[in-house]
Amino acid sequence: MKIFNFSAGPACLPEAVLKQAQRELVFYGESGMSVMEMSHRSADYEAIIEKAEMDLRQLMSIPDDYRVLFLQGGASLQFSMVPINLMTTHGRAYYIKTGAFAKKAIEEAKKVGEVLIPASSEDKMFSYIPNMTKDMFSASADYVHITQNNTIYGTRYSKLPDTNGLPIVSDMSSSILSEKISVRDYGLIYAGAQKNIGPAGLTVVIIRDDLLGKAPKNTSAMLDYKVQAENGSMYNTPPTYAIYIAGLVFAHLIKNGGIEAIEAYNKKKAALLYDYLDSSALFKPTAEKKDRSLMNVTFVTGDAELDKKFVAEAKAQGIVNIKGHRSVGGMRASIYNAMPVEGINTLIEVMKQFEKKA
Ligand SMILES: *Cc1c(COP(=O)(O)O)cnc(C)c1O
Repeated sequence: MKIFNFSAGPACLPEAVLKQAQRELVFYGESGMSVMEMSHRSADYEAIIEKAEMDLRQLMSIPDDYRVLFLQGGASLQFSMVPINLMTTHGRAYYIKTGAFAKKAIEEAKKVGEVLIPASSEDKMFSYIPNMTKDMFSASADYVHITQNNTIYGTRYSKLPDTNGLPIVSDMSSSILSEKISVRDYGLIYAGAQKNIGPAGLTVVIIRDDLLGKAPKNTSAMLDYKVQAENGSMYNTPPTYAIYIAGLVFAHLIKNGGIEAIEAYNKKKAALLYDYLDSSALFKPTAEKKDRSLMNVTFVTGDAELDKKFVAEAKAQGIVNIKGHRSVGGMRASIYNAMPVEGINTLIEVMKQFEKKA
């Protein structure tokens, strides 16, 4: 039976990429060794990491005055690195509270400075993105932090708030490379790789040059963006194999039409699923229509027992990892770039059958 993996992360990767990695696993090119065995300072590896960065720059049209960093520690370490490095002029920053990861980011930032929360969607179980206006932001703060796509609650920003000139710092873990964004609109973007980029263990940071060098003097070298940038992400050994796989994913996206093509595909996949959910008498989508995520589709039957039964039945038919996050229950279909439309169609078929029987 064909298995479709709807996991929220680590998540499915393009089959073509996995097969290429398999072909190159033992001997990479003419090197006579595996990428896993290479010195990160070797010419062969230099070529791999440089191409990965170049391809990511091409995909996202990253301007020249932005650095690309390949770090470790997951998006969660960025919850700390962002305030340590950037909450340093005014000692305060705005955080928009739109879900569980935003809350974690807030908790870490509070250890560094003052956190201001001008908008939250906690009142309705984080089912929407709050409205924001320019007058909510005063200039005497260092940045505005947002979670671009809320992985657990299935919402996303379809337009950015007007932050009154403050740089936007965005946690893009679950939506990077899924649709066109303008890097220029952000001061810093970060993303754990394991949703839309590659294997866990790699974190991508895209930072504007003028935001480097703002960390206090006593900051650990590993936590200082400037140190990481000056050393080309090689202050220490980077996650070499994860960067290699990420590079294969970037090249795969370019080969298949870039961000425009994958965005159209993602919108088509999401529309198929939401259209069905909107028409279903049994399953209900939980996110507000205007803020629906293209990557994580959350829904419920309204009956926890029935949800559980559906998750089990779906699994028996090859639809796996569709259970909602432990904090919210229900179902969540994570439909990242690498999820084929066949997976969506199969899921809808299984839901239709279940609905008929229920
Ligand atoms: C998965 C996720 C995280 C946590 O990422 P780690 O790499 O496990 O630290 C943070 N933010 C968002 C939006 C996520 O989807």
